Amino acid sequence: MKVNFFDVKRQYDLIKDEINNRIIEIVESGAYVNGPAVKDLERDLAKYLNAKHVITVGNGTDALEIALKSIDIKPGDEVITTPFSFFATSEAIAIVGATPVFVDIDESNLTIDVKRIEEKITSKTKAILPVHIFGAAANMDEIMQLAKKYKLHVIEDAAQAIGTKYHGKMAGVLGDIACFSFYPTKNLGCYGDGGMIVTNDDKLASIVKALKVHGAGKDGCLARELLTGIKEEINNNEQVSDLYDPYKYYNYLIGYNSRLDSIQAGILDIKLKHLEEYNNRRREIAKKYNQGLMHINEISIPLYNEENSYHQFVILTSQKEALIKYMNDNGVGCANFYPVPLHLQKAFDYLNYHEGDLKIAEKICKQTVCLPIFPELTEKEINYVIEKVKEFFEV
Ligand SMILES: *Cc1c(COP(=O)(O)O)cnc(C)c1O
Repeated sequence: MKVNFFDVKRQYDLIKDEINNRIIEIVESGAYVNGPAVKDLERDLAKYLNAKHVITVGNGTDALEIALKSIDIKPGDEVITTPFSFFATSEAIAIVGATPVFVDIDESNLTIDVKRIEEKITSKTKAILPVHIFGAAANMDEIMQLAKKYKLHVIEDAAQAIGTKYHGKMAGVLGDIACFSFYPTKNLGCYGDGGMIVTNDDKLASIVKALKVHGAGKDGCLARELLTGIKEEINNNEQVSDLYDPYKYYNYLIGYNSRLDSIQAGILDIKLKHLEEYNNRRREIAKKYNQGLMHINEISIPLYNEENSYHQFVILTSQKEALIKYMNDNGVGCANFYPVPLHLQKAFDYLNYHEGDLKIAEKICKQTVCLPIFPELTEKEINYVIEKVKEFFEV
């Protein structure tokens, strides 16, 4: 039997007619950028998350970079984050010129260890960037308390956590601003690249809207005032019409070109209607894996939790490499997230971290095996995966 680590085509086959019709509709409409499809999606996502502002962007990495810029993170600033994530989390901090300050993780849910944050706060610290890793929410209550005490911003990296809850509230509305990715294998994925920024803060929303379109127009003018205190008069007698927006060519900030295509927005809006059902199926699969594997002494499984959206199902074992090989030899795709903690990535050698600096993250990276988990997995496939893991450990 063959079980792929993921198979995005299966989901497409189930909603094919609806998706194909929508794509044709959008192509026929001629509105390919910032059209009604994008506005509809932003409205529907805001409702789903119970958030005030949803601003779509080109991808999750752009979302992080623009969010950091919106809170005015600059060279010389420090941003506290986790070493256990996808590279983009810390890359975005470095790209805006700030220094990522890595804090070790909590072994119980693999997110940033709040108890170790305070000792890393300096006069240069401007923000905390926790990641809801694999769909498990970071300990946001404690993080928000610390942020309040030290007047820091909190940016949630929720790229792996759309539909994750935390004490009943959606991930993405727990901090000041949040970033999501619609990369195809994420819990809500499009058929290419996409991302979004979510915030309840009107001021941050205005800045984000301006930054994603070259700091242009009326949004750009307002954003400049919010960021720098410099008030500009829009000195322009040309008329805005459906055909021509003269403000588009007045730029007030150095920004980005980061847009979600209308076609991707149309696809995402259809899939959003199924998201709860997809995430509940992930929870069901996680429960089955948990029940099937919890008795194996050689592995441990981070706590099963109904609020987790199970972007990944991870088991920890000291026999990582051998288990992945055994599963692959038996036709089961397993992933190695993440092989290197971020503080030890070559790209960050200039930060001078060494092996032994963040011991939990380093240990966890040597132990994680991610099993296939996507909503369309069949019972047969789930049972086969469980059987093969048990076989490896001879139980
Ligand atoms: C996927 C991901 C990103 C980046 O998203 P892209 O859309 O691929 O740019 C950032 N952070 C985390 C935790 C991710 O999983």
